[in-house]
Amino acid sequence: MKRKKHVIDARRCKSCGLCVDVCPKGALAIGHTLNESGSEVVENDPEKCVLCGLCRIVCPDVAIGVIEIIDQ
Ligand code: SF4
Ligand code: SF4
Repeated sequence: MKRKKHVIDARRCKSCGLCVDVCPKGALAIGHTLNESGSEVVENDPEKCVLCGLCRIVCPDVAIGVIEIIDQ
């Protein structure tokens, strides 16, 4: 069975907030975990996320992916 999953590459996030602003479901927020660059990594609430991919499109640092997983 195929399903989609939202993934964030913590190393790439610079806390710009563009993805937070664009999300139509309010599923993203700047978190409290710091990456190696000292940026607070954005976090996704899977209960709210509808996997539309808008955040992936706007992220200037290619830190977000909406990937397809095949369950065996
Ligand atoms: S748009 Fe990208 S770099 Fe900016 S906060 Fe979101 S994930 Fe991080
Ligand atoms: S995939 Fe869509 S609903 Fe999910 S966090 Fe990104 S913009 Fe929001």
